[in-house]
Parts: sequence; C-alpha cells; structure tokens
Amino acid sequence: MHSWSAPAVPAVPGEAAALRLFDTASGEVLPVDAGPVARMYVCGITPYDTTHLGHAATYLAFDLVYRQLLDAGHEVHYVQNTTDVDDPLFERAERDGVDWRELGAIETDRFRSDMEALRVLPPRDYVAATETIDEVVEMVAELLDRGHAYRIDEAVDGHADVYYRHRATVDFGYESGYDDAAMAAAFAERGGDPDRAGKEHPLDALLWRMERPGEPSWPSPWGAGRPGWHIECSAIARNRLGMGFDIQGGGSDLAFPHHEFSAAHAEAATGDARFARLYVHAAMIGLDGVKMSKSLGNLVRVQQLREQGVDPALIRLGLFVGHYRTDRSWSDDVLADARDRHAAWSRAVARGTGADAADAVRALRERLADDLDTPGALAAIDAWAGATLTGDASDPGAGAAVATAIDALLGIRL
Ligand code: ZN
Repeated sequence: MHSWSAPAVPAVPGEAAALRLFDTASGEVLPVDAGPVARMYVCGITPYDTTHLGHAATYLAFDLVYRQLLDAGHEVHYVQNTTDVDDPLFERAERDGVDWRELGAIETDRFRSDMEALRVLPPRDYVAATETIDEVVEMVAELLDRGHAYRIDEAVDGHADVYYRHRATVDFGYESGYDDAAMAAAFAERGGDPDRAGKEHPLDALLWRMERPGEPSWPSPWGAGRPGWHIECSAIARNRLGMGFDIQGGGSDLAFPHHEFSAAHAEAATGDARFARLYVHAAMIGLDGVKMSKSLGNLVRVQQLREQGVDPALIRLGLFVGHYRTDRSWSDDVLADARDRHAAWSRAVARGTGADAADAVRALRERLADDLDTPGALAAIDAWAGATLTGDASDPGAGAAVATAIDALLGIRL
C-alpha cells in the first residue's frame, strides 16, 4: 500500500544526543542503542473514525523518535500497518450502509492526508492487513505445528476457529507487566473474547476466525476465514524487521493484550527470545479534562481543526506541551497557547541575530533525547526566544540555526 509523502528534514549542525526511551517491559528509561538501521514498528489505525487527536499524539510521539534517530545518523526502517479487517470496521460500515473496503479506503486516505499535514515522517512499509493474509496463514501454521495453537471443537458451535495458547512462552506477561487480574480485565475490554465457548483458557487469543455469514474471508489450510488482530502485527513486523527489532510502539491501550500477544506469537513461532528490544507507549488525549472516546462523542479530529483553519503546526505544539507518557487534555486554551508560542518563536527567528544558537540547539537535543521531554524542549526554545526578543542577541546566524533545529527535531517549520 502506498504511504504518504515525506517532509524534508534538514541536517542540524553540531552533535546529536543519544536517544533514551521508557520501555514498558523493563519499567526503565533505556538507551535505544540501534544499529546503523534503526528498526521501528508502530501499530496503525483501524480505518474508521480517523484521525482524532489521540491518534495524532501517538504518531507524533513516534515521529519525534524517528527524527531523533535521523539526527543521530541512523537510517530508520519504519513499518506501520492498517487493520483494515476488523469487527469495528465492519460494524461501522454496516451502520453507514457502505462497503467495508470502501470505508477502509476512504478513512485510510484521510489518515494519510492528516499525517502529511502534520508533517509526520511516513513509514517505509505501510502495510494493510488484507495484503498480508498469506503471511498470517504461514505463521498460524507454524504455531499449530509447534503445538502452541489449537482449534475449537466444531461441535461447540460449528466454527473450528484457531486459538493461541496464551502460556506458550514461559515469560508471557513480560511486555505489559500485567498481573492475572489486570490481564483478565484488559482482555475483556480491548477486543478479547474471554467467554468464547470451547477455548482451553479465557485468555487464549484468536489467530484465525472461520468464515461467518456476511463476513469477508480468505482461503487457508483450515478453511476460509480471516486473521485475528495480534497475529497480523506479529507477522508484518517479523517479516519486515526480523526478531529483536528496536522499537515496538503504539498507544498505551495497546500494551495488553495487543502488544503482549503480538510479541508472544512471534516468540512462540520462532523460538527467539524477544520480539522487540523496547516497547514504547504513548498516553491518551482527553478533551477539556474528559477522556476522548467514541462512546462519549467528544472526539476532536485533525481534519475538523484543519477545516477551521488551524495550522497543523499548532496541533504539534499543543500536543507537545505535555509529555507523551502523560494522559493530557486538548482545549481551546491549549490551542491559544500554542498559537502564542508559535508567534513568539517566529518573531525571534525573524530577527536573524539572536541569543546563542548552539546552546539552544544543544538543550533542545538533550531534552528530546531524554525520553522525548517535549515540555523541556519547548522551554529551551522559549528561553532562547525570550532572550532574543528582550535584547540579549549577539549571535548573527542564530535565527536560521534555531529554526533549522526546530524544523528537523520537532517537525515544526516556522
Ligand atoms: Zn499492532
């Protein structure tokens, strides 16, 4: 599937700082420590109801990761999927009386357009679930061969779906760190089916769902059906990035069950110890202090803000005011503050001569490399802009130098 077009990223003079990120599995901030080609997988959207600010915040966080890796001289192999076969998509298509493929295509286009407007660096491989059914089939076969998966007895309800034995890997649970009670609650809440009759254990996860009337299906050795959710990302990431890739990313609501099972499926299929080296999660975005959700009907969409004439750079700035791992809220005040900040930075840059640029760029790099400390990064540029505008301006090329760093490292062109 085609991705979207990449914004230009200028080179920043001076020395980059080594990126460290909070890893959910270890509970620590760790060096990313990637090779010449950094390998990153970030879970993509299910293409309906996009792109709300929660989505935007997640992809912006990993855009910052991408930018810091580029700054440090890495090439980045970035892979993202689209879950274009899933129950919520079918339900929405049915509600709206449209074909699920058409809905998926429209919403995926909208997402691409929003990402481009936000100047998010595109994945090298942008992969739809429907393009990778053969990869899923191959991996489910591996899991069955190794005894890590089983089929539901057809006598139960006529559907011999394939399930994954959740304890197939010895350290299942390492990624999220969830205990049994937390796993049970999250599994039920986030797309799992603990009550499915015929499973060996409530936490066993769906790998292959046999065809039901009215649902799309693809051929497999077990009969026509469609993939489960976790195996999709598992197969896409493993086949493009290999095992032990650097960063598995997504929203914090994916830590369990999605990322736990994506990792476990690949580890069980290959016998390799680790799916990814770091598991990185971005927090949720609310509106005026209330959790943003489809059920509450308070989603703020990027498209809606763009239609109101909001500069997408202000969306970036507004979301960067809080740290990516802190649940935070969008509001008119956040937008107004972003507008003021953008104006102040632009005024300072336009002066040309400004306060010492090397110091400001060093501080910006240090703050971003420290687990994407965007509040600290914004404060560093605020300090430089403040000094420049109040007369402490002796560095003749400072405006251009700081603008280049803000463009490259924060993705904001002034
Ligand atoms: Zn995923």
